[in-house]
Amino acid sequence: MSTSQLATLAELGEERTARVGDVLFRVGDRSYPFVAIVEGEVAILDEAGNEIIRHGASGFLGEMNLLSGQTVFLTAVVTKPLRYIAVERDAMRPLLFEDGPLSDLLLSTFIARREALQRVEGIGLEIVGPRSSDATMRMLEFARSNRLPFNWRDPENEEAAAADVAGLDAASLPLVRLPGGAELRAPSTGQVSRALGIGRELAAREEVDLLVVGGGPAGLGAAVYGASEGLETLVIESTALGGQAGSSRRIENYLGFPAGITGAELTSRAVTQARKFNARTATPYRALSLEPANGGYVVRLEESHEIAARTVLLATGAQYRRLPVDGLSGYEGLSVFYAAGPPEAQLCGASRVGVVGGGNSAGQAAVWLARGGALVTLLHRRADLRETMSDYLVRELEQYGVAVRDRSEVAELHGGGRLEAVTLKSGERLTFSFLFLFLGALPCTEWLGDAVARDGDGFVLTGSAASAGSLLETSLPGVFAAGDVRSGSTKRCATAVGEGAMAVQLVHARLAERASP
Ligand SMILES: Cc1cc2nc3c(=O)[nH]c(=O)nc-3n(C[C@H](O)[C@H](O)[C@H](O)COP(=O)(O)OP(=O)(O)OC[C@H]3O[C@@H](n4cnc5c(N)ncnc54)[C@H](O)[C@@H]3O)c2cc1C
Repeated sequence: MSTSQLATLAELGEERTARVGDVLFRVGDRSYPFVAIVEGEVAILDEAGNEIIRHGASGFLGEMNLLSGQTVFLTAVVTKPLRYIAVERDAMRPLLFEDGPLSDLLLSTFIARREALQRVEGIGLEIVGPRSSDATMRMLEFARSNRLPFNWRDPENEEAAAADVAGLDAASLPLVRLPGGAELRAPSTGQVSRALGIGRELAAREEVDLLVVGGGPAGLGAAVYGASEGLETLVIESTALGGQAGSSRRIENYLGFPAGITGAELTSRAVTQARKFNARTATPYRALSLEPANGGYVVRLEESHEIAARTVLLATGAQYRRLPVDGLSGYEGLSVFYAAGPPEAQLCGASRVGVVGGGNSAGQAAVWLARGGALVTLLHRRADLRETMSDYLVRELEQYGVAVRDRSEVAELHGGGRLEAVTLKSGERLTFSFLFLFLGALPCTEWLGDAVARDGDGFVLTGSAASAGSLLETSLPGVFAAGDVRSGSTKRCATAVGEGAMAVQLVHARLAERASP
């Protein structure tokens, strides 16, 4: 941190001193101030007392939980006499909006620290439960998508874990141990969130101008524009703010970031921006139904909450179909991808690559990667690729030397960190360094039932296709759809954000129409 940045912080905070051995914060604390070190040194320890790193003069302490308010995962102990500036969390937030360079430095460091913490054993949540328990698997997915540091202990593989859950029946699993030691048995993801101090407790009934269902790029785009333009806006999200984009290792084609940006950073910034304008975000709350009421709509959520909204934006996105194989998530973003653009083509040059899928998107990706110099094999389930892929693409596959294997399904992945090979259901083993999956996307719309008109694949119809008054309006007046969930939309981050922003204009028009006599 520069001298001028320390001076800015000194104006906001308080200069303090601490002696060797003093603890500035410890695992399980509900909050801590931002600490900028003027002189001295601090060691950061995990719950068991193992040292992770030391910070010295001009360094600073803190990571994502300083912004999100999550329970503290680490302990900070003074190792050399300390002079430091402490800035309380509430005083820190406005500075992040006003001072661009400082905000860039802190945000990117906090995000990088969180990513590093996720790779360190012994930090954060402890989740004890077997692979065979769906509730345990859901809890792991929840922790992963919320980027919470966690350790999974499987009682089927580890004696100490088996002893921890001895005497507990399957309905009491998983056992979740929070930083600081408190234990929850078979908690809901909402309970864990709130125990960690994240997410927002909704009242049993809330009333808003605009309810945004889904906190991906489309929902966050709408939240930023809606709240900044004076609409009382609430975003509810069932899993983790950021949506699919939050799970992307690197987004290379988002306008304004020529060097690319990680999905985590892009979406963390969007969340901070939405909160700056006072958009409320509530996680994890899943929408279960939508129905008209009193000229507006009522959306019912899990845990018996309901939201009365004058307008609703459906931004629940889609989920790419994944392969039902063990260990897939460990390879995603490194060796397994769901899109093939220039960065992937560059990455895969002169490597053996598998492309899975029989549709045109798989064909286009296979040709694109082969043209980039990869040795590509296309795997699909049917007897003849022409049943599912356009003829011109089948010809191009041949022209660019793509090997096509009919009736082929992946049963197992092999590798240590990076993919090395796959085994097919036939038992055959193929060497691949990268795998591209084009198995289609499923819209997250089952919860809507028959409430709005959808296309044959379940995506929400809008505009003329739904006989609606405006481009993003659904078959229900005042209910709009944006992003991947919308039938015919371009499945990209920038499009989703743009549609979210545009939906807000249509919401204004709708509210003005209703207000006029
Ligand atoms: C691995 C990966 C890499 C990608 N890379 C790129 C890239 O480089 N460039 C690019 O432009 N695009 C990329 N994409 C695509 C891009 O991420 C999507 O187009 C974009 O995220 C769509 O935004 P969205 O807001 O419409 O939907 P989503 O991002 O899908 O967000 C929808 C949100 O709604 C929530 N939700 C669903 N159902 C409910 C419910 N019932 N109640 C409450 N909440 C609910 C979900 O949990 C989710 O968070 C990538 C996608 C993936 C998966």
